[in-house]
Amino acid sequence: MIEAIADKVRGGGRVSADEALELYRRAPTALLGRLADAVRARKHPDRIVTYIIDRNVNYTNVCVAKCTFCAFYREVGSSEGYVLGFDELFRKIDETIAVGGVQLLLQGGHNPDLPLTWYEDLFRAIKARYPSFKLHALSPPEVIHLSRLSQLPVPAVIDRLIAAGLDSIPGGGAEILVDRVRRLLHCYGKATADEWLEVMRQAHHAGLRTTATMMYGTVETDEERLEHMLKLRSLQDETGGFTAFITWSFQPSHTELGGVEATGIEYLRTLAIARIVLDNFDNLQASWVTQGGKVGQLSLAFGANDMGSVMIEENVVRAAGASYCMDEAEIVRNIEDAGFAAKRRNMHYEILGDPICRERDVPRMLELATARADGDTSVPEELRFYPARSRAAKDARR
Ligand code: SF4
Repeated sequence: MIEAIADKVRGGGRVSADEALELYRRAPTALLGRLADAVRARKHPDRIVTYIIDRNVNYTNVCVAKCTFCAFYREVGSSEGYVLGFDELFRKIDETIAVGGVQLLLQGGHNPDLPLTWYEDLFRAIKARYPSFKLHALSPPEVIHLSRLSQLPVPAVIDRLIAAGLDSIPGGGAEILVDRVRRLLHCYGKATADEWLEVMRQAHHAGLRTTATMMYGTVETDEERLEHMLKLRSLQDETGGFTAFITWSFQPSHTELGGVEATGIEYLRTLAIARIVLDNFDNLQASWVTQGGKVGQLSLAFGANDMGSVMIEENVVRAAGASYCMDEAEIVRNIEDAGFAAKRRNMHYEILGDPICRERDVPRMLELATARADGDTSVPEELRFYPARSRAAKDARR
């Protein structure tokens, strides 16, 4: 049975849900890796592995969603809650550009005191100062949150955000796209599986390219992980709008859910089966931020063709205890030691060039920056111009 499915994969055939489950559960890890590597080699015969220099900025940690797997959020009114000011964001962009960065990955909590106009004004202000800088921003649950807050349909919210400067939507908040799992994780309210997929469908119809993600290792079954992948495959058949797939394991520390983190082998098996199932996705990222540089490097033999982002800043995973960190030089070394050529890319996976650290001196960023320095409780001036909805914010803005 395993050999017959393996032959089908080698021959370029598409696996069914049952075949994928059989491989995921029973194929030896080395075989899974060889199959995933063969699919990767068919799509990327040039032996190039890409990465992007960007900055992962979390504009607010205030969130009403309260997912049980999240160690990052703070409740409305918490003394540890923050919203970044436009000036702080401009400073972060200046630093990003200084190390060769080309975009912000901008995501945050569902803060009821930030209306749609705050996002539009922010995007317009960024684009006015940095016209060619890209905004890979607002995962589907954030778009849904804004749709509910502004009482506008999702396509209208997407259109307004695009008009203000949105370039692409990151695939965050997907977790596992099965409602049984989402209810157990308390993330059904922020977006059901169908709602998440519908935001991506509408974004693709509006001309945006987006990514897709999967966080595994909480309460889901193997079947549900594969159901998640098959839903993505089917939407990709329909729209072709996904640029890449990224999977990572749940980081249990400091979360309400708690538990034990999945192993590196489970990560490699999950990545490999994703490469096999998602035959219509061109790019799979290695998740070295949660797995570390060495498993990240091994990912390149298990289906990944991209090392993701040179992390200048990371807040969400670090809040849950993961602390892996690589600057551009280290990412490049990991890629080259694995026998690939390292190239910088943009959000559309177009090659921008060779490593920038070989072209000019760039500051090394081995210590990750954080959204806010510890103890900084400053409130941005411009927040006064936006109506507050929560009692805490109304009091603070008096
Ligand atoms: S994962 Fe996102 S939506 Fe859920 S609690 Fe954390 S910040 Fe809020």
